Amino acid sequence: MLGLALPAGLEPQTPAVIAPEIRKTAEALREKAFAGSQAARWVEELSDHVGPRLSGSPGDAAAVSWAVATLKARGFANVRAEKAVTHVWKRGIETGEITAPFAQHLVLTALGGSVPTPAEGLEAEIVELPSLAALEAPTVNVRGKIVFFDKKMERTGDGSGYGAAVDVRSHGAARAAKLGAVGVLIRSIATDHNRTPHTGGTDYEAGIAKIPAAALSVPDAELLERLVKEKKPVRVRFVLTCHDDPDAETANVVGEIPGRERPEEIVLLGAHLDSWDLATGAIDDGAGCGIVIEAARQIGQLPRRPRRTVRVVLFANEEHGQAGAKAYRQAHDSEIERHVAALEADSGTDAPTGFSWNAGPTAEPLIREIAAILAPVGAGEMIPRGSGGTDVAPLRQAGVPVFSVRQDSSRYFDYHHTANDTFDKIVPASLDRMVAAVSAFAYVAAEMPEPFEKIPAEARKKDEW
Ligand code: ZN
Ligand code: ZN
Repeated sequence: MLGLALPAGLEPQTPAVIAPEIRKTAEALREKAFAGSQAARWVEELSDHVGPRLSGSPGDAAAVSWAVATLKARGFANVRAEKAVTHVWKRGIETGEITAPFAQHLVLTALGGSVPTPAEGLEAEIVELPSLAALEAPTVNVRGKIVFFDKKMERTGDGSGYGAAVDVRSHGAARAAKLGAVGVLIRSIATDHNRTPHTGGTDYEAGIAKIPAAALSVPDAELLERLVKEKKPVRVRFVLTCHDDPDAETANVVGEIPGRERPEEIVLLGAHLDSWDLATGAIDDGAGCGIVIEAARQIGQLPRRPRRTVRVVLFANEEHGQAGAKAYRQAHDSEIERHVAALEADSGTDAPTGFSWNAGPTAEPLIREIAAILAPVGAGEMIPRGSGGTDVAPLRQAGVPVFSVRQDSSRYFDYHHTANDTFDKIVPASLDRMVAAVSAFAYVAAEMPEPFEKIPAEARKKDEW
């Protein structure tokens, strides 16, 4: 490693926080996974044997059965399915067309949770807007119109482009309905140029009309954009038959590598088991499931297990509602204090780029040494004040230290939430690097004599999921 070396004898004498034998074992875990792991195999089973697993669907139930059987067969203890109740939504027919000034077919997909259009379809003139804020401009009148949110997502390595663009998907329908719009179309929150629209949840607001909402593929959004520039009224008709069904039972699947000294203290490794329905959810979040199952399995194979329990939680219903995260928080209320760390893997299949953390300030020297252990697989950059991931948000809000191994997400949003999220996109060698980083981190967290300091109240990001 390059650095400014001090003359011999002047190096700071701070003793290492991580004892040599703990470091050695963590490095051995890292090297073993780096040389090749089974992570891609678990993703392949979940993608190809189970397939799409929209929350509350038969595929979701099959995923729960698969996860229970897999964790049991791979040597996990205390394997169980912990009940959660989920909202159930079903996609149906989804078609669209431009009716004026030129007839054109549109490729679109309903946003998760959308209400249907009337059976004959919804037809109206469109109003193109670049953002949610643009709705409020005094010159904008959306009453009786279909709002077309044409917000472009920037391709970035850290996923920040998604965070900056996704509000039109989550809140566009509710905000446009408030102003009298009859429907919403968005440019897919995406970085590709394929005719594969990207779904994702949209949230309505109580007391506001629910209007149909769909995402256009990027080429279709750009066609609309060009026609709007010609300054003639553009009319669109679309048909959605998606609808809600009664709530149903699903489950978080839990399995453990019990600790040898303090089994009641928990290092949680999470991912989400549900996926959207358009594909087999290989990168979102089969990859995360494969990473955490394999990381914990490798820790379980050590000749001496770590002091604390490593608990894998495959969460239900992350995609739209977070019923699994809420149910976990509630069911484990009495042991929240004993969760010493929580990590979620939900950023796809690509290689690690850094290590984000959120804990009390006294944890920093230890985090610094963990980052140094992760550096050889690319995860050495320390990113403070991380959020940990959607499913561990309720734990973070209770002060549990949260971590994540950041991944290169420059390709992720080419496939995310589309019919293209299939196993061929998986990069086994990158998953192995992720397993290397996650297993080394989890081992140190589970073995250190003292746990991390809890997150101070002001850094718990109470409003963030
Ligand atoms: Zn996800
Ligand atoms: Zn997702």
